[in-house]
Amino acid sequence: MDRSALGKITSGLYIASSMKDGKFNGQIINSLFRVTAKPLTVAISINKENLTYEYIQASKLFSLSLLAINTPMAFIGLFGFKSGRDVDKFAQAGYKTGSTGVPIVTDHSVAWLEAKVVQQLDCGTHVIFVGELVDFDNLAGGLTLTYDYYSNVMKGKSSKNAPTYIPKEEAPPKTVEEAKYICDVCGYTYDPSIGDPEHGIKPGTTFEDLPPDWTCPVCGADKSHFEKTG
Ligand code: FE
Repeated sequence: MDRSALGKITSGLYIASSMKDGKFNGQIINSLFRVTAKPLTVAISINKENLTYEYIQASKLFSLSLLAINTPMAFIGLFGFKSGRDVDKFAQAGYKTGSTGVPIVTDHSVAWLEAKVVQQLDCGTHVIFVGELVDFDNLAGGLTLTYDYYSNVMKGKSSKNAPTYIPKEEAPPKTVEEAKYICDVCGYTYDPSIGDPEHGIKPGTTFEDLPPDWTCPVCGADKSHFEKTG
């Protein structure tokens, strides 16, 4: 069996959000499909360990934001690699409140759906929630982000679009000081020629010279999670 065959199953990248006791949380999912047309229902799969699972079980409500193809990695990182137990994601994202009271992320989203849970199926580590749509609408034009694009294209594209991009054949041999480091949690690459200006790290700062408390700007992992690339 070749596991890469499973990677060819197509899916999108979405934010599923819910609420509990007046608090909001959301997470990235790539499992969403339409179940029936009458009534309009959709299904999502959520890991039982996630805070969003707890919120959906409490409220029996969820919303879905369909992410746009140009969604920044850091935004995906906020909802995909950070836990709502540690950070208030909705303090850092544009959202509105749906008719049922659930938060609906509007940043970087092409459309949204709002649903009430009508059925659920225990699948061991995950639960499949079937939700009947109570409302939905478009937000912006443009393409919906797919998981395939996110995993196979986005990383390449960001480095190629960077002003510092050097085609491989023109690149001088790497020295230790110039090496890039990749986060083993989220796949973010630290490039010394770019630095991390958002967090005060100037271009030209080697990975070794990053402060010990520097963390991955996408997922928040510490330096021990980084490995030299190439
Ligand atoms: Fe990371």
